[in-house]
Amino acid sequence: MFEDSYTNQLREITLDMGADLFGVADVRHFQNPEYTGNDPRDFMDNARSVIILGVAVPRGAIENLPKGRAEYTNTLMAGTATIRVIAYRLARLIEKDGYRATIVPTEGSEFGYWYADRETLMADMSIKYAAYCAGLGNYGINHLLITEEFGPRVRMTAIVTDAPLQGPKTPPLPFLNEDCKDCMKCVEACPARAFTADGKIYREKCAGYMFNVLEGLRCGLCIKVCPK
Ligand code: SF4
Ligand code: SF4
Repeated sequence: MFEDSYTNQLREITLDMGADLFGVADVRHFQNPEYTGNDPRDFMDNARSVIILGVAVPRGAIENLPKGRAEYTNTLMAGTATIRVIAYRLARLIEKDGYRATIVPTEGSEFGYWYADRETLMADMSIKYAAYCAGLGNYGINHLLITEEFGPRVRMTAIVTDAPLQGPKTPPLPFLNEDCKDCMKCVEACPARAFTADGKIYREKCAGYMFNVLEGLRCGLCIKVCPK
């Protein structure tokens, strides 16, 4: 089937370029009732597929937090720069094949929530939800994607395209990671109380902490304490 072979071709190219994660989600997932974010079809007419690309964040940048916050922040930005270059090259290749492709910002919060809606702090679409639909992991209580190989230590971006691609053929993982219920370390560790054990998230508290208290440096404690 064309979808399978074209997806495999893009996966191989992406991993060869240095990405650690590659996955595909059908845009129709964004109509699922469990999803409360924005839909990629709002910014790309005829979008059919979302490609998720990711790189692992080195543990050395995380383990000593809150010491080394500058290095952690810089390492995250290096991850963003790396995955952006890979996404750009992949988007160009997809367009050479006759399709359209655009790149989703790595995080709504980057550079002061520049990309996100100013009031809700929500991005134009959730890369994490796309990654979940692509079978790359599931949600932690910290509202991050928990991957099998790298836990929450990943940096991701996404390409929205009208190319027909093949998502996972296996059933979706449970939405919430099963190990969270006996852990909750991230809830205790968050200095801003930005999320709760019962699943609520207050993005403005995390943003306020990082951009006001830490003056733009990143926090990362909810990643550091995660045993996954
Ligand atoms: S990055 Fe820090 S402030 Fe933001 S949610 Fe994680 S622990 Fe809380
Ligand atoms: S720290 Fe524990 S509760 Fe939080 S995401 Fe990781 S496994 Fe889940």
